[in-house]
Amino acid sequence: MTAQVPEDLLNGYGIFRASRFADEEDRFRSLAEGQSPKVMVIGCADSRVDPATIFAAAPGELFVVRNVAALVPPYEVEGAYHGTSAALEFAVTQLQVDHIVVLGHGLCGGITAALASSQETPVGQFIGPWVDQLKAVRETLLEQAVDVDPDGHQQALEHLSVKYSLDNLRGFPFVSDAVRTGTLALHGAWFSIAEGKLCWLDPDSGAFEDVRIPAASQ
Ligand SMILES: [Zn+2]
Repeated sequence: MTAQVPEDLLNGYGIFRASRFADEEDRFRSLAEGQSPKVMVIGCADSRVDPATIFAAAPGELFVVRNVAALVPPYEVEGAYHGTSAALEFAVTQLQVDHIVVLGHGLCGGITAALASSQETPVGQFIGPWVDQLKAVRETLLEQAVDVDPDGHQQALEHLSVKYSLDNLRGFPFVSDAVRTGTLALHGAWFSIAEGKLCWLDPDSGAFEDVRIPAASQ
């Protein structure tokens, strides 16, 4: 494998320069002055679930951090390399975003790995410990949902992992402070790849409901 720029990337870059950049040159120039996104999205690294695509967002509109399974880890003061926590801190304390959306999705390989580790199947040197933060959630689910088929477990854990991340978000002092003062709102969402469908977590019922699309944007 050579270290040349992959041809697909070159072609895509050419299209970007000729179309999007050419059309929005002023936007890019003004973004060079700084960014002020109102929304942070915590999403999965999965190539099929791109927040900017799902929300038709322009550069500068979304502050996005993506990792395996879209997880917010617990607030920890020990340890050195907290990439997601660092992005969260920057979004809340520096950019002062108004909203944080935890975006889970269907067919999530990270969630499949979290379920697999319950059967002691090795899921990687780094993936295993990362997704194993869902261990308590997973064990409660498997105890309570014994009659559910594996697909049902998968989607149930995808949903529960979003709630787990929202709980962890509230454990970060700068997040809970901003929520308490009313300057920050937390949201959970889940995206179905095959249907291109977005569901939003209803905080009262705890259910993921289909999003109603505003008539003006249809
Ligand atoms: Zn995923």
